[in-house]
Amino acid sequence: MTLYSGLLFNLECRYVVDDPQCPLCSQHEETVLHALWSCPKLAQVWNEDNQWSFKDMTFHDFPQLLLHVLNSECNVELFATQVWTVWFRRNKVRTTPPGFPLYLIAQRAYEALMEYRAAQQRTISTRSSVRLGARWSPPLDGWYKANFDAVTFQEDERAGIGVIWRDSKGLVMASASQNIQLMSSVVEMEALATI
Ligand SMILES: [Zn+2]
Repeated sequence: MTLYSGLLFNLECRYVVDDPQCPLCSQHEETVLHALWSCPKLAQVWNEDNQWSFKDMTFHDFPQLLLHVLNSECNVELFATQVWTVWFRRNKVRTTPPGFPLYLIAQRAYEALMEYRAAQQRTISTRSSVRLGARWSPPLDGWYKANFDAVTFQEDERAGIGVIWRDSKGLVMASASQNIQLMSSVVEMEALATI
């Protein structure tokens, strides 16, 4: 029982998992470290890339492994994505066997990381187009004020336009937004938002 991770022990006690054996190799108890890293069936995942060449080192638990990765020259983002993909597949296999094959884990992790980085880039470029320093002031009593704006997503050649109506207390009365084809100028898109 001492070999169980706290998580797995709790899961078994709560009948979330009914078998402490690793479903991949059926030879070891499934600790977190085993499920994500040291299961012999995962060799084809972690042997794929030389940067995980410390595969044969002994770690007592997952935090110790993680500490080693953080202090190494490894790509920590890729490690995190790969661990997540291993865990995702492990859970998928439990519900809908056989899930996807083990040899696809490294590839899927890499693709997920690339997708994440691309999304980060889009977020940065979108944020950079936001005008800073603008301060909203309320309309007079009995009046409504409409503010409109447009953000561009250059890589996707798309833009988002939106408009929001507020009263003199700043309460939102109505709002609308739409995803449109990228236009030649921001002014054009903002003008469209007013219609
Ligand atoms: Zn195993």
